[in-house]
Amino acid sequence: MKFLRCKEVARPTGKRVAVVGAGPAGLAAAGALKCHGHEVIVYDMLPEAGGMMMFGIPDDRIPKDRIRESVRELMNAGVKFFFNVKVGRDISLEELIASSDAVLIATGTWKTRELGVEGEDLPWVIPAAEWIVEVHMARYGYLPWSEVFRPRGTALIVGAGLTAADVATLLLTYKEFKEDVKRVILSYRRTRELAPMRPSEFERLEKMGVEVMELTQPVKIYEEGGKGFVRLVKMRLESAPDERRPKPVPIPGSEFDIGVDVVFKAIGEIPTPPFGKENHGIELNPDGTIKVDENFMTTRRGVFAAGDVKTGPSLIGLAYKSGLDAAAKIHLYLTGGL
Ligand SMILES: Cc1cc2nc3c(=O)[nH]c(=O)nc-3n(C[C@H](O)[C@H](O)[C@H](O)COP(=O)(O)OP(=O)(O)OC[C@H]3O[C@@H](n4cnc5c(N)ncnc54)[C@H](O)[C@@H]3O)c2cc1C
Repeated sequence: MKFLRCKEVARPTGKRVAVVGAGPAGLAAAGALKCHGHEVIVYDMLPEAGGMMMFGIPDDRIPKDRIRESVRELMNAGVKFFFNVKVGRDISLEELIASSDAVLIATGTWKTRELGVEGEDLPWVIPAAEWIVEVHMARYGYLPWSEVFRPRGTALIVGAGLTAADVATLLLTYKEFKEDVKRVILSYRRTRELAPMRPSEFERLEKMGVEVMELTQPVKIYEEGGKGFVRLVKMRLESAPDERRPKPVPIPGSEFDIGVDVVFKAIGEIPTPPFGKENHGIELNPDGTIKVDENFMTTRRGVFAAGDVKTGPSLIGLAYKSGLDAAAKIHLYLTGGL
């Protein structure tokens, strides 16, 4: 994946753009804006660029060296990077807006969705996406392994998307876990044909030893006699003409308990804009994504948004394209066309 797509960078325009987030959206935008001759400064809370491509996706699915090479090209072309800087904590978004001609927010979806059941705050109930990122931080030498939760025994994964598949893959293939993890169960409230992950992905996981429990959903997580348990309820599907997929409905009286050592919550991630209650005039949609117009501009003039923080969880290619499209609009804005 190339982020700098021009042979030569245009003459400096004297305009400065701050990009918040160095995932595929932020990097694609940084490359395009640099090619136009703008000064580009990228801020990321992690110690290295790449976002979920680098720290979320297992090593065998995406060549990390190629990402590093493309980021080096950006650096050589003059894109400046500030790592380990969390905007909204270490520097305020307002400060970036004041010191730049335009700002692009591309901070993705970095918080796991809650299950909403009793017991989910127990210490062995783990938000999957955050844990996967920590595992890769430790693998690349940015975090001591002693600070990473080390699962053992029986793991129950709740969810059936990319994150759920990746937790299972890490548990059963990474040398740091595969000796200690004895059993991996995946609970999903619909059937595999209706899941975000493809049926072939279920087959791959089953070949690795994952037990798939379709049409089940956790209703309670608890400890008894020093052991961990999850109470699952069986589900049935009810037709829902107004929705894309049939609705899963609990079957009363079908609850059953299984003993577990760890639960991974992997039912999706939510957008994480780089601000809290003080929103700097940047409005959110009801689902937490950043509201933008047809030009990728937020409700604050000169501040744009792209990638998963604008759309909700998606895919690398879509985030990359969103970054490119936003960069084209930012260039138009900086040259007086918007
Ligand atoms: C576990 C997992 C597996 C996936 N597998 C695939 C796959 O196989 N194929 C596929 O196409 N897609 C996959 N995806 C989805 C894909 O990774 C995302 O759609 C894509 O990375 C989104 O790009 P983005 O640039 O919008 O955000 P991200 O890649 O999430 O990057 C956002 C960046 O912003 C930074 N950031 C966040 N908040 C702040 C802040 N306040 N200050 C500074 N920096 C901040 C983060 O550190 C990060 O670097 C997967 C996602 C997950 C979670």
